[in-house]
Amino acid sequence: MHFDARNLPNNSTIEGDICIIGAGAAGISIALDWSKTGKKVILLEGGGFKYETQLQNLYKGKSTGQKYYPLHGTRLHYFGGTTGHWSGFCSPFDSLDFDKRDWVPESGWPITKKDIDPYYIKAQKVLQLGSYEYDLNYWQKEIENLNPFPLDNSVVWNKMWQFNRSRFGELYKNEIVNSNNIHLYTYANVVNILANENVSTINEVVVKNHAGKEHTVKAKQFILASGAIQNTRMLLASNSQAKQGLGNDNDIVGRYFMEHLEISTSELWLLKPFPTDLYQYNGKPRAELAITKEKQIENKILNGTLSLSPLSYAKHTIPRMELLQEDDYNKAIKNYRANMAEAKEKAKLENTGSITRAFELDIRIEQAPNPNSRISLDSEKDELGVPRASLHWDLTDLDKRSIRKINQLVGIEAGKANLGRMKLNDFLRDENDNSWPDGTNAGWHHMGTTRMSNDPKKGVVDENCQVHGINNLHIAGSGCFTTSGASNPTLTLVALSLRLSEYLKGKV
Ligand SMILES: Cc1cc2nc3c(=O)[nH]c(=O)nc-3n(C[C@H](O)[C@H](O)[C@H](O)COP(=O)(O)OP(=O)(O)OC[C@H]3O[C@@H](n4cnc5c(N)ncnc54)[C@H](O)[C@@H]3O)c2cc1C
Repeated sequence: MHFDARNLPNNSTIEGDICIIGAGAAGISIALDWSKTGKKVILLEGGGFKYETQLQNLYKGKSTGQKYYPLHGTRLHYFGGTTGHWSGFCSPFDSLDFDKRDWVPESGWPITKKDIDPYYIKAQKVLQLGSYEYDLNYWQKEIENLNPFPLDNSVVWNKMWQFNRSRFGELYKNEIVNSNNIHLYTYANVVNILANENVSTINEVVVKNHAGKEHTVKAKQFILASGAIQNTRMLLASNSQAKQGLGNDNDIVGRYFMEHLEISTSELWLLKPFPTDLYQYNGKPRAELAITKEKQIENKILNGTLSLSPLSYAKHTIPRMELLQEDDYNKAIKNYRANMAEAKEKAKLENTGSITRAFELDIRIEQAPNPNSRISLDSEKDELGVPRASLHWDLTDLDKRSIRKINQLVGIEAGKANLGRMKLNDFLRDENDNSWPDGTNAGWHHMGTTRMSNDPKKGVVDENCQVHGINNLHIAGSGCFTTSGASNPTLTLVALSLRLSEYLKGKV
């Protein structure tokens, strides 16, 4: 069922069994999991069914520290959420990502990879990916010409990725709108979350829209699923009862903001052409070069992978952290696409002879958990009266040292195997240089701001994604990640959301 909250009588009260706030990848996955359960599911979406500038502007915010994209250019504010323009590259986290690593501060999830594996299988289906197979041997039987580089597999392994640019808004609109027990409300922006007197139970949330309507939503269980920055903002802004914000007795909400650093780091020049499709972006399962668990432990480094782009193309691209600074989101994307098209054209002209053996190696790496990297509330408010988000993005020496080491390990192995020679980019050459290049791109992945820990002093949610101290408030999304892994977040956040969904079925 679908209702437009702008058309309801003012001050309506909506009641249900569970209330999901946000209809993006996390919120829609949970709502669908409750389809046909006979329980009344209220799904609140701030936007409508398409992009609208006025709504997108609610996402505007400030940032300080390491240069970041304008905050409203990194997410989408309508049904389907940020999957409306995501790239669709997916790979599960590695088991080491969940472990306590003594060289990675505040690492160690309260759950293991095994706890989440069954939900990865379900998440693959929701994201319409192939089977839950991320082993190179499996894909070599399915797809021709996936020859791996002959690198020592005790140091470097091939981490597989799958791809499907599933737009949740298009894929699941009909199923949700036609469902008998899912009640979707569009133009229903949650602006406040109200608890009981001792802030142990949420009683209701307040919804507003630009039509000037305000409504109340009551439910037995509430799930915040509006993206890591918005979830943080709502917890902090709901401060009429708990002065520091909900779930924030220990000043953790908003801290440990993590991104995936995606930076051009080196060049790999092959000694002779190596025929393989394994490392190509062609819409099929492909691999990135990853460092084994043993070598990560030995070198005390973060988890990261290197992907290959033909140098003839990559050298003409402008770092997206530069290109996407425009305040006008659509203009920024236009510039970005125009640069890619131009680079492709130039590459075509140059693609002769030895140039086809040269690649740019781009890292994607987890960011070390860091309490100074954080989302907080700005003094300025949005049009619905909610304080805007402010990001302070802060990187550490461990991030930089790990990037250098990963490149060095791959470079040494490429040399030993007589595959080719690697040239590090300038910013990585000097071990004492801790600066970051202009092209320090981020993956548009927001993680860690409501991190998971069973210790309320170290995390916002427990292992079931329940906010510490509030028995019916839960968080779905990559804000719950304790560490950010080397993989893009959406497959894991959908899996975690489905795990939360199952847990809640036992409670309602
Ligand atoms: C350009 C780009 C490329 C990307 N590529 C990849 C990729 O290749 N692989 C990958 O894994 N990830 C990728 N991502 C990240 C991916 O899109 C996100 O991880 C994912 O969409 C997050 O899902 P979510 O449900 O937590 O949040 P969202 O998808 O952002 O959904 C949040 C929803 O909540 C709604 N909402 C917000 N505030 C409120 C409120 N106050 N009240 C009610 N509703 C509200 C929003 O309108 C939205 O519908 C990419 C992101 C971008 C921007």
